[in-house]
Amino acid sequence: MRYWAYLVAKLAAVFAVLRGIWLAMNALLPEPEIFLYTRLPRFPNDLPWTAALLVFWLLGLALAYLAVWDSRRRCRVCLRRLRMPVESGSWSRATLFSPPRVTSICPYGHGTLDVPEVHVSGQNPSEWHAHGDIWRELEELDRPRK
Ligand SMILES: [Zn+2]
Repeated sequence: MRYWAYLVAKLAAVFAVLRGIWLAMNALLPEPEIFLYTRLPRFPNDLPWTAALLVFWLLGLALAYLAVWDSRRRCRVCLRRLRMPVESGSWSRATLFSPPRVTSICPYGHGTLDVPEVHVSGQNPSEWHAHGDIWRELEELDRPRK
């Protein structure tokens, strides 16, 4: 729940930034003059507005992509960035036996994320594997046995 709330908050921040840029574009770029008693639409007929709209669209896509990309590489529990990527698998046997993948781990041990690197039939989803309480397991190893 916290993970999804963080993603929604980032997307809301992206929307707020884009809304501010949109208002600035409308304030800074004036409407084109009326030509022969007709008001032409701004998008295809006014070059500064069309160029600004192109840059606005690319900026919006880039910010939304960055927000989602950053969220996919965070721990699902504590939202810290995953660390220590380890590659496994083999490129020579990539299709059937051991497809290459990158495994990253939360620095506090909440879980690991497996990201497949080979996409044969569409994009394979990443797999999150939650860990148990690793500190309890370590303490149990240290306890004297009866
Ligand atoms: Zn974590």
